[in-house]
Amino acid sequence: MKTVPLRWLIVIPFVVLAVVLGAAMYLLSSVTIADIADKIGKQYIKEVEGRIYDRVQDFVTPFISIAEVNLAAFTHRPELLNDLPAVAGRFYEQALPYSQMTFISVATADGRYVNSTQSPMKSGQHNIAANFVYEPFVMAGFEYDPKTFIGPKIEADPTFLYDPRERPFYRRAVNNKQITWGNIEPYYGFPTLGIDLSAPIYDENGTLLGVTATSIALVELDKYLASLELVEGAYLFLAENNGDLIATSGQGALYQTENGVITRSNLNDHSNKAFQLASQSAKEGMQEIAVEGENYLYYQRSIDLKYGKQWQIGILIPRSYQQGFLDSYTQSVIVITLLLFICIAGVGSLVAWYIGKPIHRLSQAAKGNNLKSIQQLPTAMSGVREINALSQGLSSMADNLSDIMQNLEDKVAERTSYLQGENEHLLESALTDELTGLYNRRGFNQAIEEALVYSQEKGQQLTFVLCDIDHFKRVNDEFGHSVGDLALVSVAMNLKHHVRFASDIVARYGGEEFALVFLNADIEQVLLRLNRIRRGFAQNPVVKGEHITMSFGVVHVCEGEVISMEALIEQADKKLYQAKNTGRDQIIL
Ligand code: GH3
Ligand code: MG
Ligand code: MG
Repeated sequence: MKTVPLRWLIVIPFVVLAVVLGAAMYLLSSVTIADIADKIGKQYIKEVEGRIYDRVQDFVTPFISIAEVNLAAFTHRPELLNDLPAVAGRFYEQALPYSQMTFISVATADGRYVNSTQSPMKSGQHNIAANFVYEPFVMAGFEYDPKTFIGPKIEADPTFLYDPRERPFYRRAVNNKQITWGNIEPYYGFPTLGIDLSAPIYDENGTLLGVTATSIALVELDKYLASLELVEGAYLFLAENNGDLIATSGQGALYQTENGVITRSNLNDHSNKAFQLASQSAKEGMQEIAVEGENYLYYQRSIDLKYGKQWQIGILIPRSYQQGFLDSYTQSVIVITLLLFICIAGVGSLVAWYIGKPIHRLSQAAKGNNLKSIQQLPTAMSGVREINALSQGLSSMADNLSDIMQNLEDKVAERTSYLQGENEHLLESALTDELTGLYNRRGFNQAIEEALVYSQEKGQQLTFVLCDIDHFKRVNDEFGHSVGDLALVSVAMNLKHHVRFASDIVARYGGEEFALVFLNADIEQVLLRLNRIRRGFAQNPVVKGEHITMSFGVVHVCEGEVISMEALIEQADKKLYQAKNTGRDQIIL
């Protein structure tokens, strides 16, 4: 079976999970994000549109209100028109708060005219103009005076003849007999468009008393649209219903002057293709338009001003900005997924290490030849319960094995010791004569050989004796074989009794023949002992009052003398033979 490292077993499933979840998250959320981006786009457009709408209303409302309030005042108090300097003061005060208010004026039916005037480009410079101060219809500019209202004449301002009744604002109001909008056109000598509103004043009998008018410069609306911070590639415009532009987000001039002829810029032939397309698909609401490969979300809304005036707000937002949302979102998802991979791989490796290390230690301990290395493993070798259980199981298995081995060793030792005893016993019985308990011939051969080597090594003397019971056959014949055996045992005891227990050797050499070896003993001592043995037989019966005698063949090996075992036996045998043949019951040296 193919095996995998623990690390991969932990890391791979989690990484696969992270990839699958990352992909699923990306797919699901990119759909959601596209939807959100679309909603945000529309929301954004509406937000921008709302701001423009409010700004236009705030901009235009005082302009209309002041015309209305002055019309009402002059209608209900025609006597005001008799004191035009006071009217000039009134207009000055009305214009003062509004930077866009260029003119607030009144022209009487008899041709008198007064206004509060402000430079369209230099807001805050309010003055007064009037055509009745010096001579009728002579127009001049004056500073405002809080007491007399019409203050000193402005030197730089030339005087000229001015009959307001011939001016368009007057004629338009009179012809329409109601509050009337003027055309949007540039102010003479100033690079800005302006618009005016003029209202005919009638007394209660319907007699025309004059015309009051207001005029505002539109340059601030243009500046306002240009100042709005928009997404890259977005455009704004404020236009009249015929497409003539009033303000844009910085998309070129609003009018051109050629040979004294003024032409307003129009959406239809604008250099910005997006404006052209917007004017072609002009309808209120949200729509998609494509301009030279770029898709735009286009929103158009009309602003209704009083007295039948309608303007259009247009907002174009490129779709590509949504792609920007998606791109940055995709990058974020990729970065998060990558970080997730790294974290999972790191944590997985740590977990694998944490689990794997004690397992590796266990396997190393189990591989070793020594059970102790397993038994010595700590009880809590890991924070993982299963690994501790495995370690404890292994440890108790090692304990059991150790017990079994100890038991086996004990049994083997017991058996070995038993076998050793048996062996020793066998060895002993192999070397011992069963009847007398003395060495048998084999045991004797071994002992005499060792004794010879020892005495020769040590340079000690040695005496070898072969002895045989005389006429033993007769004992057997007379008392039976078993009594003969008892007699043999008695002789053996007797011999043993007369040798030195620690150093000398006594053996049953044959049927009723015995061998004696005296180590490191003088021959006199040996002969003394042998004679004691011989006399002992004469004094004490060995069995049933029966006395025996023994013949002895003695060979003495002097200190430093070297003799083989065979030669020793042969010589002793000869001496014994001699003792037998020369009367028995004697010791032959
Ligand atoms: P001698 O040595 O003096 O010449 O006479 P002998 O009778 O001892 O002669 P021999 O050596 O021929 O006989 C030895 C006898 O010893 C023969 C055998 O019956 C007897 N004998 C040998 N071994 C044993 C034994 O283990 N038990 C008994 N009861 N008798 C034994
Ligand atoms: Mg004999
Ligand atoms: Mg014999």
